[in-house]
Amino acid sequence: MTKPSQPAVFAPWDDPKETPLISFENVSKRFGALTVIDKINLNIYSREFFALLGPSGCGKTTLMRMLAGFEDASDGTIRIDGQDMAGIPANKRAVNMMFQSYALFPHLSVANNLAFGLKRSDMPKSEIQGRVDEMLRLVQLGKYADRKPHQLSGGQRQRVALARALAKAPKLLLLDEPLGALDKKLRQETQFELMDIQEKTGTTFVIVTHDQEEAMTVASRIAVMDEGRLVQVDTADRIYETPNSVYVADFIGDVNIIEGAVDSTEGEHATLRWSEGAAPIRAMASDGISNGSKAAFVIRPEKVAISVEEPKDRHNRVQGSVEDIAYLGNRSTYFVRLPDGSLIKSQVANNRRIKQRLITWEDSVWLSWSDTAGAILPN
Ligand code: ATP
Repeated sequence: MTKPSQPAVFAPWDDPKETPLISFENVSKRFGALTVIDKINLNIYSREFFALLGPSGCGKTTLMRMLAGFEDASDGTIRIDGQDMAGIPANKRAVNMMFQSYALFPHLSVANNLAFGLKRSDMPKSEIQGRVDEMLRLVQLGKYADRKPHQLSGGQRQRVALARALAKAPKLLLLDEPLGALDKKLRQETQFELMDIQEKTGTTFVIVTHDQEEAMTVASRIAVMDEGRLVQVDTADRIYETPNSVYVADFIGDVNIIEGAVDSTEGEHATLRWSEGAAPIRAMASDGISNGSKAAFVIRPEKVAISVEEPKDRHNRVQGSVEDIAYLGNRSTYFVRLPDGSLIKSQVANNRRIKQRLITWEDSVWLSWSDTAGAILPN
């Protein structure tokens, strides 16, 4: 007998039979005359680790607060588990929110911080201690049960806050900049702990973060927002490799942007006119571009090769002069000035120890890239 086959990857958003845990249908939020969320449609699925990413003021927190029940939508419908949330108060939703400040009770021990909410819930008294112990084990703080919050490190306090938010086993946990107070190294370690805990408990997480690397590390999918709208909702690799707009390409990771006009389109490819006398750039065409329209070619610096010799086998090649070199240990970024004045970055992995630089300041170099390395997007 063969076992029923398990899907190889977790991707409920690609399965038309899946029903979402959360759905936003045409949701808008206005504060007076100001539209902060503008007709959003979004499905989030059970067990997802979903990240909201975008510049300050784009509406991330407002979207979370509407899910938690701290704000009402001005228009549209928000459903959790199929139920319309209109008029349902925060404390009647299977949702918990963990704030950046952690909001721990300073006079209570770690264990009592965890027990506090459980004592006010309908959990039988006899089960509370067991649940507290289980949560302490989950976040590996068993040894610290009797300490007060001020006797803990920042990372430990963060774990207490997380354990407390998960104690009542919410279906959905909202995390607003949960790692914002931690230094970079601890933050990176804690990202993996957070993923591990999310997987173990099977809770759906929605996280707000300013840190794009963090979103890319932890999230099953990322929503990139701009001025109250969702610009792209996708997996981290697709957002990085196939951004749907110059805005997303520029927001996530490092990118070169060359502006111009579409010269021709042919199947998956297009060419871009960008500088007098320069050969048009040939690249993948994104949706929404047409002959003659304004467009931009976007390419990640690590996809731009740099060489002293002319790479004659590549259609896309330009000559320039090295203006700056940023040595970052594991990689170097070359800033190359082209004859038309634009500056293009080429990033190279430093696989070998550098004894003598092959390419140095003011060298004349060639930059080149394949036809599939970048994309031509509407601009
Ligand atoms: P940040 O990353 O800085 O936290 P954000 O993306 O979370 O920003 P929101 O807090 O959702 O942004 O705010 C979105 C917009 O709504 C901002 O322009 C903000 O000033 C405005 N706003 C938020 N709450 C209110 C309110 N209660 N009354 C009026 N305007 C508000």
